[in-house]
Amino acid sequence: MHEASLAKNIIEIISANTELTNGVRIKKVNLRVGELAGIYYDSLQFYFTEMSKGTSSENAELIFENLPIVGKCRECTNEFPLQNFEINCPKCGLSKFDIISGNEFEIVNIEVE
Ligand SMILES: [Zn+2]
Repeated sequence: MHEASLAKNIIEIISANTELTNGVRIKKVNLRVGELAGIYYDSLQFYFTEMSKGTSSENAELIFENLPIVGKCRECTNEFPLQNFEINCPKCGLSKFDIISGNEFEIVNIEVE
């Protein structure tokens, strides 16, 4: 149900930004999503398609850009993407770090017809 409320939010944001532009049709919505956000893209597109019927977003396609989880080493402050759960800093080799991003969910822009 996480995806359903996100779909609703996206549609509301787009509607709020396009209601003054008469007859505009949204073609694509570019989104940036962190790997930690735990979003199922297919599911989000499904809810979006269902819920956007009759709005300016009807038939729009969601385009996802996947953002890696980024860790910051506590020892040398190097920032590095955490891939395949490899958790050693590539610079100093230690494995003490803080996660500084990976939870993002943002609308980058929308493309209209
Ligand atoms: Zn380090």
